[in-house]
Amino acid sequence: MTCVETAAPDAAPAHPGPGVQAIVELPDDAQFRAAVRDWLDRALRALAGADFGRAAMHEMRFRRRWEDHLCQAGWSGLGWPRRHGGKELSLPRQAIFHEEYARLQAPLPVNMIGHGIVGPTLLLYGSEEQKQRFLPPLLLNREVWCQGYSEPGAGSDLASLTTRAVRADRFYRLSGQKIWTSFANVADWCFVLARTDPAQKRHGGISVLLVDLRSPGVTVRPIRQITGEADYNEVFFDDVRVPAENLVGGENNGWGIAMAAAGFERGTYFAPRIVRLQAELEEFVRLAAATPFEGGRAVDHPSVREHLARLVVDVHALRLNVQEILHQATSGTPPGAEGSAVKLLWSETHQRLLDLAMDILGPHVQLGPQEPAAPREGRWQRDYLWTRAETILAGTSEIMRNIIAERALGLPR
Ligand SMILES: Cc1cc2nc3c(=O)[nH]c(=O)nc-3n(C[C@H](O)[C@H](O)[C@H](O)COP(=O)(O)OP(=O)(O)OC[C@H]3O[C@@H](n4cnc5c(N)ncnc54)[C@H](O)[C@@H]3O)c2cc1C
Repeated sequence: MTCVETAAPDAAPAHPGPGVQAIVELPDDAQFRAAVRDWLDRALRALAGADFGRAAMHEMRFRRRWEDHLCQAGWSGLGWPRRHGGKELSLPRQAIFHEEYARLQAPLPVNMIGHGIVGPTLLLYGSEEQKQRFLPPLLLNREVWCQGYSEPGAGSDLASLTTRAVRADRFYRLSGQKIWTSFANVADWCFVLARTDPAQKRHGGISVLLVDLRSPGVTVRPIRQITGEADYNEVFFDDVRVPAENLVGGENNGWGIAMAAAGFERGTYFAPRIVRLQAELEEFVRLAAATPFEGGRAVDHPSVREHLARLVVDVHALRLNVQEILHQATSGTPPGAEGSAVKLLWSETHQRLLDLAMDILGPHVQLGPQEPAAPREGRWQRDYLWTRAETILAGTSEIMRNIIAERALGLPR
């Protein structure tokens, strides 16, 4: 495989204060929140040093180092059972952890597919041998995962995927192409959806395989994005031999597993995103108060105020929706179309916020990270460009609207 980034974790500083186990055992949610906040803040400051709060903290090398530090300290498997090394935290407590993480503007994790999708899927559908083999290195962040679902001819219509896995003795021979595979350029393993029985139609005949990206026949080609970064990829499988024991949940059962996997994180998935959005909105208001605009301050301009009011209301609505989803998930109801509504509103609100920032914060916010005069080291421009992807990833806005129309409103197809 082509691996453009191999992160060897540097030694992490020792962490003062209570340990992770003592924090997760705190009886009260408010104490837990305060202790998580304190732990994360100290740990991030210690690890980042002079780079704390700077763009360097969001670069791949530091992200890997920070995530290794967190996992090796014990902040992983938060919702997993104890017998598999997890912390068995309730959903609201997991949400508190993720909210505090987002409030600190800590670097986004790299191994989110491993921790959020692969681990929970193996806990539910994996064989005992798969759990023993894959869960311990995942908990310690020693193996990074990516997710090979989308193909050039299969995105929204995922069931039309054509990557083939043919059983040959103790192996599957895997051939085909995946695309937009986030983090494949840094990943060790890929959670692949492949067609094992073409005679069955569409959702039938699909299986999940765990594929070692170092196997002969795997090629990973990073795709350069509009932001200049290249963290999603094309992945080619050219007659790759995948051991039969890496099949998850039985042959031709992949569609159900993929759908279950998609639901795992829904309860906590958006809580940190809304906190980040709120923090960006607050920063925007502060900057708008200091920005001259048509003879006054931008924040006082009637049209800006109108946009801002709408953003504030939408962020508030998002918070309430996420609380409701968490509440439902805690009482055992999986999120239905509400999850799609939150994804839609979050991605479109975030785009509107960044559009407004570009319009009114002055031409210098359009400068990129390479320009020394760029405010926030160019992150306004980078985030503006990145938000273009948010209405596509994890289901496009059109698909979200279809789901809401059909499943929540009961409209005809
Ligand atoms: C940042 C990013 C990261 C990603 N990471 C991964 C990853 O790690 N692994 C992975 O497997 N995939 C990943 N994807 C791929 C993502 O899941 C697909 O891009 C997405 O599902 C859309 O598929 P597509 O790009 O093929 O577009 P298409 O499905 O071809 O859609 C093209 C357009 O047609 C519209 N459209 C399609 N069908 C309908 C319909 N029925 N009704 C109305 N409109 C419709 C769509 O909304 C869109 O506007 C990522 C994408 C992005 C942007």
